[in-house]
Formats: sequence, C-alpha cells, structure tokens
Amino acid sequence: MVRRGCGALTPIMGLLMDRPLPQLDAATSPPTAPDAQHARGDLRDSQDRVIHDLRLSITDRCNFRCIYCMEPGDRFLPKRALLSASEYMTIVDAAIALGVRKVRLTGGEPTLYPVLDSIISELGRRNLDDIAMTTNGSLLEPARAARWKAAGLTRLTFSLDTLREDRMSAITRSKTTVADVLHSINVAAEAGLARSKVNVVALRDVNEDEFADFADLARERDLDIRFIEFMPLDSGRSWKPGRVVSETEVIEAITARHALQLRDPMNPHSTSRHYDFADGAPGRIGVIPSVTRPFCGACNRLRVTAEGAVRPCLFSNTEWDIRPLLRNGGTHEDIMRFLVDSVWTKQSGHSIGAEDFQQPDRGMSAIGG
Ligand code: SAM
Ligand code: SF4
Repeated sequence: MVRRGCGALTPIMGLLMDRPLPQLDAATSPPTAPDAQHARGDLRDSQDRVIHDLRLSITDRCNFRCIYCMEPGDRFLPKRALLSASEYMTIVDAAIALGVRKVRLTGGEPTLYPVLDSIISELGRRNLDDIAMTTNGSLLEPARAARWKAAGLTRLTFSLDTLREDRMSAITRSKTTVADVLHSINVAAEAGLARSKVNVVALRDVNEDEFADFADLARERDLDIRFIEFMPLDSGRSWKPGRVVSETEVIEAITARHALQLRDPMNPHSTSRHYDFADGAPGRIGVIPSVTRPFCGACNRLRVTAEGAVRPCLFSNTEWDIRPLLRNGGTHEDIMRFLVDSVWTKQSGHSIGAEDFQQPDRGMSAIGG
C-alpha cells in the first residue's frame, strides 16, 4: 500500500522526484475484497458504486504549465517507469472484462505519448461504447485526427481557459495561442469526431469575466463547454477556497446574456449539470461543481497513472501499484483481481474544505484529469 502524508516519501513519490526506481513489492497491493465481490464479476466498491469509466493517464509529460495544474519546475518520471502500450492494454482488457464501457486517455498531455496512435487503434478493436481523449489542443494535425477517427476515437475534449490572446500565455505558460486551440477544435470537427467538449477551469480574477463569451462560442460552433470548479490538485498548492468560482456564479454570469434550461434535472447519477440554450441555439453548457456540490455518490471512475498507480479516487491518498504484477507475469485473472480489490477501497468522497482534508501529493497532471 502506498500511503501519503506525514511528509514521508513513498515509492511512487520517489519516481516523481526522478530518483532511481525503487524496489516495489507486494506491499503495494490492495487488501483483498470480499469473495462475494469477486464472484460478482464487476468493478463495484464498498459503497455499491459500479465503475464503467476508466481514465488512463498515458504520460505525465506536458508542453504547458497551466497555473492551476503544474509548476515550471515540476519533474517528470523516468521513461523506464512509464507503462508501455501493451501494459495499458492488459489493464484495459481486464477492466472491460469487469464491465468498463468507456476509456478516456489523458495525462499530462496525451498527444505527446510516442505510440498514442497504436493505443487508440488497440482501443478501437475492443468492445467499448466510448473512447475519448482530453488534450490541450496544441498539437492537432488534420491527418492525425483523421487517423484517430478511423481507428475508433469517439471525441476529443479540449482544455481552453480563455478566449483572450493576451491571457493565454499567462495561464498556460506556453506559446500556444487561443487561435491554435480553436483551429484544433475545427480540425476535430472536420475529421468527423463527435461534438467536442471544451473544459474551462473557472478561476477567480483570471477568467471569470469570460464565461458568457464561452457561451457565445458554444452557440457559434456547437460545442459542449464545461466549466470546472478549481480543485486543490495544483502541484504549486496555491489553491484556496477564495479562488474557486462556484457553479452558481458561472450560471449567473451566463444567464445575464443567454437564458439556459437545465437538462435532466432529476438525474442523480450525473456528475455535472448540463444546460441547453433556452432559445434552441446549438451548443451546450455544463458545470462540474466538484468543490461546491461534490458528486462523489455518482462517481463511476477509476484512474491509472502513467507509471501504473491505480487510483480509486481523484483525491486518493492511497493508491495501488499494478506495475509489479504487469512486469512479473501476472495473468489476466490476476489483473482482474487487482482491479476488483483496488476498487473496493474507493473512498466514499473527498472532504475538500474540511479540516482533515489532505491534498494528494500528486498534482492533476500526474494523476490524469
Ligand atoms: N493536458 C490535457 C489537458 O489539459 O486537456 C489533459 C490532462 S489535464 C490534467 C485534464 C483536465 O484537468 C484539463 O481539462 C484541466 O483543465 C483539468 N485540471 C487540471 N488541473 C485542475 C485543477 N486544479 N482543478 C480543476 N481542473 C483541473
Ligand atoms: Fe498540461 Fe493539461 Fe495540466 Fe495544462 S492542464 S499543465 S495542459 S496537463
């Protein structure tokens, strides 16, 4: 087991600091879930939530340093620590056998992963309902997008936090422009991918005057724009409650310009709230209120990091290292058991704002959003 906190360096944190690979042992395995759960054949946690959505962080590397995610001095894992494409697929096959229907590739920046195309092709050969990828949109060429579409990628989610060129480099600390990302969004549409989603992290005093402009963009380009409340997952640890712009504030800012209609208000399993434009215009607005209205009771996700740490929760302070099993001849059944045991330990929720809340040692780029 890899426990976090108390300032102690865990084996996986050692990797984050670019030190020699530690000796990983069986102690990094999860405790055994009840036999009855193994007999069920699904990925169910002790709170009866069932996992259908697997998020693979295929690299911790990124060409941006977004202010709410990474710091310029952050170090990357050594290459030998990263899972190979075939190791990811071994995990995916076990997860599919246990009922996973959707895989999202993320990172770090997944378009930097050297064999991304072969991972997408392999996923396309599996029986999945949805294969998605989250990207900062800096590196999308038409031929690549067309290849991904042909291989089975369903859609892309882009991250874009401002529509003002003068703010872009201050937020992302990169040379990519707003125009570059908007171009990538067009490329995705031209490749025939499903309607793109755009993630906007709502940040106090940074972009809160732009929410209605993003709504205009949703209407003009038929996009699904999703505002995410800023979460304490930044490696610079600058998160403060006062920097969070709440769901209520986002919706108020948009409705000052465009009336919205809440879609499916009664769905208790939704992790975000979706709104249509009341006048029937194309596009959609979503809000992911992870901080002010957590949706932990509806969570159906499991995450695996670039070096094989299985994380039952975005905010886990405990994670399980599947890499030794992958590299020491673990069978399909062994991997399935490991996933079932890991999911059984999923915490009931996060406690952001509570006195005992402990920010995970990993930032979002090392977890996979
Ligand atoms: N690099 C890709 C990108 O930015 O789209 C994929 C990885 S990124 C970690 C995935 C998502 O996490 C992005 O949409 C990003 O905006 C979001 N994110 C990162 N740090 C966050 C934070 N502290 N709070 C809320 N969302 C965050
Ligand atoms: Fe990189 Fe994505 Fe994090 Fe921005 S949000 S630093 S693009 S991983």
